Amino acid sequence: MQIDKQASEKLLGQLIRGELPDARGRFGPFGGCYAPEMLMPALERIGAGVRRWLHDPDFTAELGRELRDWVGRPTPLTPAPRLGREWGATVYLKREDLTHTGAHKINNALGQALLARRLGARRVVAETGAGQHGVATAAACARFGLPCVVYMGAIDVRRQAPNVERMRQFGTRVVPVESGDQTLRAAIDEAFRDWVADPEGSYYLLGSVVGPHPYPYLVRELQAVIGREARAQFIKATGGLPDVAVACVGGGSNAIGLFHPFLGDAGVTLLGVEAGGRGPGLGDHSATLGRGTPGVLHGTYSLLLQNADGQVQETHSISAGLDYSGVGPEHALLKAIGRVEYVSATDGEALAALRECCAQEGILPALESAHALAGARRWAQEHPGRRILVGVSGRGDKDMPTLSQVFADATGAANRH
Ligand SMILES: *Cc1c(COP(=O)(O)O)cnc(C)c1O
Repeated sequence: MQIDKQASEKLLGQLIRGELPDARGRFGPFGGCYAPEMLMPALERIGAGVRRWLHDPDFTAELGRELRDWVGRPTPLTPAPRLGREWGATVYLKREDLTHTGAHKINNALGQALLARRLGARRVVAETGAGQHGVATAAACARFGLPCVVYMGAIDVRRQAPNVERMRQFGTRVVPVESGDQTLRAAIDEAFRDWVADPEGSYYLLGSVVGPHPYPYLVRELQAVIGREARAQFIKATGGLPDVAVACVGGGSNAIGLFHPFLGDAGVTLLGVEAGGRGPGLGDHSATLGRGTPGVLHGTYSLLLQNADGQVQETHSISAGLDYSGVGPEHALLKAIGRVEYVSATDGEALAALRECCAQEGILPALESAHALAGARRWAQEHPGRRILVGVSGRGDKDMPTLSQVFADATGAANRH
């Protein structure tokens, strides 16, 4: 979808001034609230709670204290001089990998758990794919004594055993979903079914800037702490702004969080990196912004990977957190108005970037974050001598089983030759 120059400038101005989404949850042509009729009252109640609490001084003070004392914010901005030498650039890393539970997802889970408590919820319902959002939600619910149920596809339960165990240690009930594709999509259906059964007493804690209004807005506001800190830290460290800020895009929450406070800085290029997977073929990647078309998925009108009949496509990425066929509606708008550039990095490029970051900086990034590093590296080569800010959304400890497998396969192949 293309939006002409004049309309684009107007929409960007509205985004910068915080006027989007509008009252109907629209980001220009995208967003909105496409949910079953029986969920509308619950979504409206959450919307009212967001308007009442999110910028209330008591709420923000409590959130700020918890972010500092429990999550460990502000996270550092780390200079990466050896990576910089390799890339021919000045490189700084925003370290969400150093948060409690190891990824940016905790910023959102904490904020929504606080909101759930203010709304008088008796329990929290969530779904998780790889388990990172489930772990963050389980930890936040334990912190505030909120009972929590997490739905997870049966296949994912087997694949992500350590995260299932972590959730259980936090007192969360993990429900394996045996129906449908037995992965994230089936888990979302079951979690919605649970919520529909008790929309008054339950709070649905969504993990990214997707879903029906007000979630894309709510999650963005809770993740924007990343970009606010990074912007101030970058100015303090270098005396100016970066030339580019780079983040990986799955649903899009860490990227929106990093980008949002830079939207009004016309000199700062914003670069989102999607999962290019095994290649551009159908089902081989999850590059929704690069290759998707407009449609409704999980309550929002955005870009998604679908075939000509509107059938949602299978996706692939080596990183479970980027393996989603939709993307947040605000990203769809940022692409349409040309404020953010979106590219993709393949599984192989992400693995190479992960190894380089380990070897050059002693930092093991999540496989998701490695896509941002791969995209940043390529941008650096096309634009020599610039200042680059990379969002490291999480730590890679969770990826060790995948990495051991990949590198064992590579060694095996080399030995056979
Ligand atoms: C979940 C996850 C992502 C992808 O989610 P976004 O909403 O796109 O940020 C990226 N990085 C890490 C470490 C994750 O756990």
